[in-house]
Amino acid sequence: MFVNSGGSPIEGRDSHINFLGDSYFRGGDVIKTNEPIVEGGDYPSLYQSARYGNFCYKFEGLAPGDYFVDLHFAEIVNTYGPKGIRLFDVSMQEEKILSELDVYAVVGANKPLQLVDVRVPVLDNGVIVIRFEGISGTPTVSGICIRKAPKLSAPLVKPEHLICNKCAAEIEVSPTQTRARSKYIAKYEKKIHELTSQYKLKSDECYEAWMSLTATNEQLERLRMELDNRLFQTDTLEQAVGKQTGKLRDVSERYEHDKKSWFAALSNLEEKIKAMKQEQSQLAIEAHECANSTPDLNKMIIAVQTLVTQCEDLKIKYSEEIAKRKKLYNQVQETKGNIRVFCRCRPLTKEEVLSGCTTIVDFDAAKEGDIGIMTGESTKKIFKFDRVYTPKDGQAEVYADASPLVTSVLDGYNVCIFAYGQTGTGKTFTMEGNEQNRGVNYRTLEELFKIAAERKETFNYDIAVSVLEVYNEQIRDLLATFPSTKKLEVRQAAEGFHHVPGIVESKVENIKQVWDVLQAGSNARAVGSNNVNEHSSRSHCMLCITVRARNIMNGESTKSKLWLIDLAGSERLAKTDVQGERLKEAQNINRSLSALGDVMSALATKSSHIPYRNSKLTHLLQDSLSGESKALMFVQIGPSNNDLGETLSSLNFASRVRNIELGPARKQVDTGELQKMKQMLDKVRQESRIKDESLQKLEEHCQNLENKLRGKEQLCRNLQEKNKELESQLESKAESQNLSEKQYWQLSEKLKGKEEACITLQQKVKELEYKLTDQQHFESMILQQKQVKELECKLKEKLCSESVPVQKVKELEYKLKERLQSELMLEQKVKELESKLREERDQSKSMSLLHSNDALKFATPTEGKAFSRDESTSETDPQILRSSNSINKPLTGPGSILLRGADPLHEIKRKRELRNAMVGKSENNITTPTTIVEKRVQPSELGKVRKIDPAKAFGRLTRKVVATQKVFPHSRNNLEKDKIKVWTR
Ligand code: ADP
Ligand code: MG
Repeated sequence: MFVNSGGSPIEGRDSHINFLGDSYFRGGDVIKTNEPIVEGGDYPSLYQSARYGNFCYKFEGLAPGDYFVDLHFAEIVNTYGPKGIRLFDVSMQEEKILSELDVYAVVGANKPLQLVDVRVPVLDNGVIVIRFEGISGTPTVSGICIRKAPKLSAPLVKPEHLICNKCAAEIEVSPTQTRARSKYIAKYEKKIHELTSQYKLKSDECYEAWMSLTATNEQLERLRMELDNRLFQTDTLEQAVGKQTGKLRDVSERYEHDKKSWFAALSNLEEKIKAMKQEQSQLAIEAHECANSTPDLNKMIIAVQTLVTQCEDLKIKYSEEIAKRKKLYNQVQETKGNIRVFCRCRPLTKEEVLSGCTTIVDFDAAKEGDIGIMTGESTKKIFKFDRVYTPKDGQAEVYADASPLVTSVLDGYNVCIFAYGQTGTGKTFTMEGNEQNRGVNYRTLEELFKIAAERKETFNYDIAVSVLEVYNEQIRDLLATFPSTKKLEVRQAAEGFHHVPGIVESKVENIKQVWDVLQAGSNARAVGSNNVNEHSSRSHCMLCITVRARNIMNGESTKSKLWLIDLAGSERLAKTDVQGERLKEAQNINRSLSALGDVMSALATKSSHIPYRNSKLTHLLQDSLSGESKALMFVQIGPSNNDLGETLSSLNFASRVRNIELGPARKQVDTGELQKMKQMLDKVRQESRIKDESLQKLEEHCQNLENKLRGKEQLCRNLQEKNKELESQLESKAESQNLSEKQYWQLSEKLKGKEEACITLQQKVKELEYKLTDQQHFESMILQQKQVKELECKLKEKLCSESVPVQKVKELEYKLKERLQSELMLEQKVKELESKLREERDQSKSMSLLHSNDALKFATPTEGKAFSRDESTSETDPQILRSSNSINKPLTGPGSILLRGADPLHEIKRKRELRNAMVGKSENNITTPTTIVEKRVQPSELGKVRKIDPAKAFGRLTRKVVATQKVFPHSRNNLEKDKIKVWTR
């Protein structure tokens, strides 16, 4: 029975054999190829189909007995190289006959591989079960041939048949040899068993050692990792320590810098404190001096106070004296008369001199106030006045006598000064003067301001000036900027004070303003007249100075007026010469001057009615011509004989005025009394002078005292201020010293704190460094190094302990080699025996021919034809795996060569020797003999031998590779070289 696995029935196509279709399988798939099968033998188409996957074959209905089973394999799946290694086991009747078969590895792709003559017993159930079990990949099979096996004959059983390990030749051994051999075999097997067990033990030990080594390696790796971590940590710690040291350095530098700065600040503070202490000591000395000088100061203060009291007394006395002086002065004035008349004569003018005029005035007794006028050549008329000025007397002398009167206006008296006389006699000159020779007006105001300034501490003076002109009985305001059409009239105020409403009162505060005002008035007077001198001589020019005085000490206030009047010319014109306007002017002038005389007469007679209102002039002068007022008349005369008449007229008028003052009664007083009176007057005058001098001295003394007092007061104030300043400085210095001391203590405390903090920081840093260096650099490193060293020692020990079994293994190998050599020796003996056997074979050729049909095994396809064989054998030349369990085989002739390959026997032997030599050179040659030994056991033992303890997987991994190489010495590269593969059992 020949089944074409995976294919359909084939009948007589490739050979004379009929192949059954694939019908006995269980499971699996079909695979087919059109690729030609190389060396396919008689039936190449058989290998173009195959069953693969997980499957089995079950043949039933067979007669009980032994059967031969041939299995045909071909790798048709991996046609052009392996897509996956296909390893599988084959079991028949639960007995494994092939283990881990790799078809490709044996023959390559698209080449047949045959397993022939597998003897399978069939029991009564008549079933043959062939199982294909994949180890790696899926099993595959192309064909299965089952044929009846011949019964084993008894005589054939008798002789022992040995299969040569090298040439696979069957050798008949005699019973004695067999027994000896069995003994050897038993012995060797025992030894091998021992060696195997030893090997197992060693390999176990090696495995354990390897495992421990790997564990140690792992531990070592872990330790290395830990060491790396520790090193990394150490590096990071070192970096941190570096940073910390850097920070510490910075801190220490900062500390040093701060320390220096603090020390510098402290030294500065100490220096400051020293300086302050010095200052304080100086101040203390000064304070002591001040305190010492205080009694002097007190003395001075007391003295000053006494001076002040004295000054106050003096002031009182002074005021009393002033009052007395005023009283006396007034008495003197009264004795002099309220109206005083001074006579002034001008010098001859150039024209008068040129015209030959002569002087008719006699000034011999001018000092006594007498003036003589030569009325004729021998007659002389004497006039007596209060003062007579010669032409040589200047403005200053004139004013000097007038000034006491003038200054009385500041004491609250109304004063009136006017110049009377013929035109051209010097009225204007006396009153106004010129820039070089200032007149009474200017000098009066100058004096007033001077005295006001002197009295400014006791009096406040307001001085106002008005300038008027009375012309033709009309008042004209010379200071008015816009002359009003309204007629100016004299009015009487409620207090009886006369004034001109609407008149300009120009306040003057200094002499310059006065001069400006006077100039303005003078200029205004000139307006409206072609001939200034002419006009001025026809009008009265009146300067009114109003003084408002307030006594600061007693609050008394007065208002007084000083009239300074430049009267119109007093010359009398002949009636025939005067006409029109001139007449009117003359009439007005005469009227006014007459009115003035009348008023004075009325005042002298103390008349109840004083005709002030008869003219504007007297009306205006009403306040200044009253009983309490003072008046002064300058009677101006010319010295020329041409003006004799007018001069006499003027002098008469003046004398009348003066006489009026004195009163006619007095006039009538006799000369004796007059002399007495004169003497008394002289006495009073002297007394008055003495009083004045003493007053002046008192005033000076008072002023000196006041000045001294002021100086002392100032000194006292200065000393007090200095004392206060010194005290305040002392206090501030003491405070600053306290503050600086406090700051010093605070700073020193801060410094101490800083130093302590720095010391603790340094200690901490040192401790840290010490810890770090000690613990991390020494302890951990040393410990780790120790651990590493211990581990290395352990490793070395392990390696040493591992080397011991290796050495043992080597020894074993050496022993094994020796055993192999002895085996070779045995083989040589076997060869000799074979040679003998051949001779015997030659002799018994005839006998071998008789048994050829049953015992002949397939050789090469060509040789196979020459031998008789079973129906299932093929004449093609596939690669054949011959089962060694076919016991009844022909033992002689070329057919006895089990291998179907074309190589002759000697060639096989040569190869075997070569392989043995190679094996001897190989380090892992232990596997080969094992395999060889295993091949000699029954097929059922094959799988058992190959069974490996899963626990030894690690060791097995390497060994398996080696074993695979040895089992399949023909690698895929050298397949071409060795096409014949032999599997023996
Ligand atoms: P009146 O005003 O009375 O008409 P003035 O004052 O105009 O007279 O004087 C007429 C002239 O006489 C002026 O030129 C003046 O300078 C001159 N004169 C008047 N008095 C004196 C004097 N005492 N000394 C020198 N010259 C005088
Ligand atoms: Mg004049």
